[in-house]
Amino acid sequence: MDSESPLTLERLDQLLAPHCLEVMGGFAVEGEDETLPTGTRALVMIGPRQPGFWPTFKTSAEWQDSQPNPMDRWSRRVIGRLACDLGGKAYFPFGGPPYHPFYQWALRSGRCWDSPVHLLVHESQGLWVSYRGALALKVPLEFPQAAKPCDSCIEKPCLSACPAGALTGAGYDVPRCHAWLDEAGQACLSGGCLVRRACPVSRGHARMAEQSAYHMGQFHQ
Ligand code: SF4
Ligand code: SF4
Repeated sequence: MDSESPLTLERLDQLLAPHCLEVMGGFAVEGEDETLPTGTRALVMIGPRQPGFWPTFKTSAEWQDSQPNPMDRWSRRVIGRLACDLGGKAYFPFGGPPYHPFYQWALRSGRCWDSPVHLLVHESQGLWVSYRGALALKVPLEFPQAAKPCDSCIEKPCLSACPAGALTGAGYDVPRCHAWLDEAGQACLSGGCLVRRACPVSRGHARMAEQSAYHMGQFHQ
């Protein structure tokens, strides 16, 4: 990267944009944090930029080489290279152990919260929120905060959208979800979880059904 450019969130977004990735939040680190390398001053969380993420990813060598886990391998390459360029360290929400505390990091970001169905809900991606990686950086950065969308969501459709009653305010009954997908889950398998789709913030997020179907296929093999 251009060493003359001060690192800002806007500059990071510019570096991520060619890969259809974006900054999805983060937090400043003051003092030492046992989950992060010594000297870390900021943790930046990275996820898909829409529209365009899925078609861009499908042009990658990892998608086209027919080997397992193409999106994880692509994430490691793209975000790992950026971490090296910036003198930081990359973390990923897959491939443990060790497992990194992405859920807790998301809650610390000020742009993501625990939803009424106990999935993360993001201020712009809603229940579609997903992270492809995170960067621990040794430069201080300032992070904007956002308002939790659930506070102004009167109907809370997430609470009643699952036809199997598998994902509700009581939490996520994963075996029950899989049983439904086996028996009558074509709508979920082809377009993604109906609970995630019901969230009004998710509906405003331009994620392609094909991408959701891919992830459902990974989940329900
Ligand atoms: S449907 Fe409403 S309450 Fe549920 S996660 Fe989305 S914004 Fe929050
Ligand atoms: S994938 Fe379908 S069955 Fe499973 S939790 Fe979501 S809506 Fe319910």
